[in-house]
Amino acid sequence: MKFYNTISGKIEEFKAINQKEVRIYTCGPTVYDFAHIGNFRAYVFEDLVRRSFEYLGYKVVQVMNITDVDDKTIKKSNELGISLKEYTKKYTEEFFKDIDTLNIERAEYYPRATEHISQMVDIIKKLLDKGYAYKKEDAIYYDISKFKDYGKLAKIDVNELKKGSRVNVDEYDKDNVQDFALWKFKRKGEPFWETEIGLGRPGWHIECSAMSMEYLGETFDIHMGGVDNIFPHHENEIAQSEASTGKKFVNYWIHIHHLIVNGQKMSKSKGNFFTLRDILQKGFRAPAIRFLLLGTHYRKTLNFTFQALKQAEQNIDRILNFMYEIETTVFKDFENSEMDKITEEYNNRFVSALEDDFNISQALNTLFEFIKKINIMIKNREIGSKDRDKIVSIMRGFDKVVGVLPDKFETELQSEEKELIEKRNRLREDKKYEEADKIRELLKDKGIIIEDTPWGVRWKKLQ
Ligand code: AMP
Ligand code: ZN
Repeated sequence: MKFYNTISGKIEEFKAINQKEVRIYTCGPTVYDFAHIGNFRAYVFEDLVRRSFEYLGYKVVQVMNITDVDDKTIKKSNELGISLKEYTKKYTEEFFKDIDTLNIERAEYYPRATEHISQMVDIIKKLLDKGYAYKKEDAIYYDISKFKDYGKLAKIDVNELKKGSRVNVDEYDKDNVQDFALWKFKRKGEPFWETEIGLGRPGWHIECSAMSMEYLGETFDIHMGGVDNIFPHHENEIAQSEASTGKKFVNYWIHIHHLIVNGQKMSKSKGNFFTLRDILQKGFRAPAIRFLLLGTHYRKTLNFTFQALKQAEQNIDRILNFMYEIETTVFKDFENSEMDKITEEYNNRFVSALEDDFNISQALNTLFEFIKKINIMIKNREIGSKDRDKIVSIMRGFDKVVGVLPDKFETELQSEEKELIEKRNRLREDKKYEEADKIRELLKDKGIIIEDTPWGVRWKKLQ
């Protein structure tokens, strides 16, 4: 497995700290509103990374934080006159509904910032002791001039950052951010915690340092997020974590590029966003949305259009139709001696694509080429009944990564119905057409239509 590591700027071979286990931190949502599909591009890609490692036999330990205290959540809950907890609970629940809709596998941990204040305070205390942090009237700040490696992730020269511009909001898209707030002392109308470092609340960056190290250890394998997280958020996480522990924080940094609309990053502030619900309401299916978000390589921007979404629906239908045909065609009773070789070859190609910097386009190509190949073999009557399970199983395997197939096809037959179809086949082989037709009628009464096609008997269930 090799992929691009932001911090080295190179494609690197992945080496896990613990063999065959990968420990991953992913910056999660700030639960002040519904997430938009730009955010979900990031989460779907992170799901691809997770599923790829699982496919390769790794045990995955993934943490995704829930930011349930920051300027935005505080402002919104104040506007509505409800508690921060009550406010963020709603959007946290909606977030989980959305990730289920997109078939994003659950991480092992979803820590809430408000439940890890003491871990944050511990890090800040260490930073104060070691001289990396200083107290001002309104906040405790991190002094970036003390951390000699500051800028190593984003490749930013500290001397070029504007001197003396202290920023005490945790909006992370500010320009020229220099020192940043670790702890903001109690302000009117804001929630606060009573701690050893004073009454107040955490800054955004310290949340991720505290929650990642709590669950993954002081040094872990992979940290992910959107490219907008590189600076200052992830740069600050490195500064806080490495200064407090004296150890390397993260071995591999992976950053996903943006989903854009009409050339601009989809974002709440620009108002050019769609939530998942917006798109479902237009009649698009969730697997197609997943497919669209997944299908472009993560180091390329993804230009969102409804035309592309329609195309994704067609691709999903190609996969579904193929599975439907494989599961419902009654093949002749034989086994193709080449089948193991074929499935192995396509599986190897699929794995190599994933191992090559998560090259999902190549992996999906392999899947569609496999479909094409099998369809031709079906037409040439080269597929026997014994091959079906192998075809279904490799497709189900691919789908462990792609994640668009339903668990079960509505069309599955009872064994009694299967027996009737087989009995009818035998009768037809013996040229007992009248009896065979009786069975066809019987099946029709049960809502099953039998078709005799050039490549075998096929059935359809009346919906
Ligand atoms: P936020 O809630 O804004 O902190 O974003 C949560 C995650 O979504 C972060 O990893 C962001 O980098 C990512 N993100 C936000 N907007 C986009 C976008 N338009 N395309 C891709 N990822 C995004
Ligand atoms: Zn973070």
